[in-house]
Amino acid sequence: MRPLQMVDTKTQYHKIKNEVDSAVIAVLESSQFIGGKVVNDFAFHLAEYQGSKHVIPCANGTDALQIAMMALGLKAGDEVITPSFTYIATVEVAALLGIKPIFVEVDKQTFCIDPQAIENAITPKTKAIVPVHLYGHAADMEKIMAIAKKHNLFVIEDNAQAIGNKYQFTDGTIKKTGSIGHIGCTSFYPSKNLGAFGDGGAISTEDDLLAEKIRMIASHGQSKRYYHDVVGCNSRLDAVQAAILDIKLKQLDGYISARQKAADFYDQAFKGNKKIETPYRATNNNHVFHQYTLIIHDASRDELSQYLTEQGVPNMIYYPVPAHRQKMFDAFGGSEYHLPNTDWLTERVISLPIHTELDEEQQQFISEKVLSFLN
Ligand SMILES: *Cc1c(COP(=O)(O)O)cnc(C)c1O
Repeated sequence: MRPLQMVDTKTQYHKIKNEVDSAVIAVLESSQFIGGKVVNDFAFHLAEYQGSKHVIPCANGTDALQIAMMALGLKAGDEVITPSFTYIATVEVAALLGIKPIFVEVDKQTFCIDPQAIENAITPKTKAIVPVHLYGHAADMEKIMAIAKKHNLFVIEDNAQAIGNKYQFTDGTIKKTGSIGHIGCTSFYPSKNLGAFGDGGAISTEDDLLAEKIRMIASHGQSKRYYHDVVGCNSRLDAVQAAILDIKLKQLDGYISARQKAADFYDQAFKGNKKIETPYRATNNNHVFHQYTLIIHDASRDELSQYLTEQGVPNMIYYPVPAHRQKMFDAFGGSEYHLPNTDWLTERVISLPIHTELDEEQQQFISEKVLSFLN
C-alpha cells in the first residue's frame, strides 16, 4: 500500500510535473518575479472560474482577510461577527486591527456559522459578518446575505477551504462561494484545495471601487508608484506561485471530484454505524471536502485518534481549541462566551486523510481501522 498521508501534494505534483516545471522555468528565465503577465493571467482566470468581477492576488489567506477588513473601512472599536469554530486566522486579523471579534455558534450539522446566532449578536457597533465555509461546506449564505442587507452589514466570506463550491439560492441562482459576499478571501496554502508550492492568497469582489481600494492597500496604499494615499501593507502573490496556480486551476474541478469520490467511499464504509456521524451535505451546495470530518458519538474521540496514530493512520483534530477559548482572546472576553455547540463539536470531531490521490486500498485500510476501534 502507498504510504498514508493527510494530503499527498507530491503525487499530485508528479501528474502535472512537466507542465509545472516548464512554467516555473519560464518565470525564472523571464526574471519577472513580482507582478507582471503571469500573475495577471492567473487573477483573470480565477475571476473567470469563480464568476467574480475582480480577483486581487495577495501573499496568503490571512492577509486576504486583513486587507478585506481594511478595504471596508473597519476600524478599532467596530465589531465583526464570526464563528469561534474556525481556524484562528479568521479572527486574529480582526483583533490585530483593534476590531472586536464577536464569536457566535455554528450549526452542529454543517459546522458553519448559525444565521440565527448572527442576528442575536448584532449591536450598533457591528459592521461585518465573516462566515467561514468550513471543511469545504458552504455557510448558509442566502440567510446571511439577507441578514446583512437588513442590518446594513458587510459580508466577508472566508473561502480558504471551499474554493470551487457552487451554492444554489432558492430562486435557482447558482454562485460560487467567495463571489457571494461583498468580499471573498481565499488561501493557496499548499494543503488547500487549490494549493501553491508556497504561500498565496486572493481577494475577490464585484465592486469596482472596492477592488481599487483592495489593490491599493495590498500595495502600500499607493495610487501610483511612490504616492501613498492610505496606510496599507505589502502583500503580493509571486509569479512562480501564480504560474503553478494557473496550471492547477485547470485541474481544480477534477481535484474536487476526486475529493468527493473519496468522501463517498468513506460515507459508504461508515454507513449504519451509530457511533459515526459522517459529514452532512446540504443539497444547496457542492461540498468540496477540504476536510473529511466525522463526529464521534458515545466513544472517546481522543482514544480513537491515538489508536489510529498507533495503527499508522494519519488523523487530525480541526481544531482542538475554539477561538473563544484561545489565550489570545482573553483580553476580548473570550472566556465569557457560552457556545455549547462549538464546545460539543470540539470534543467530538476527527478528520481523516482526504486528498486527490487516495486510492481504494488506502481508504479500505483507513476505514477498517476506524471501524475496528468503534465496533
Ligand atoms: C488556511 C486558512 C486561512 C489562512 O490562510 P493562510 O494562507 O494560511 O494565511 C484562513 N481561514 C481559514 C478557514 C483557513 O483554512
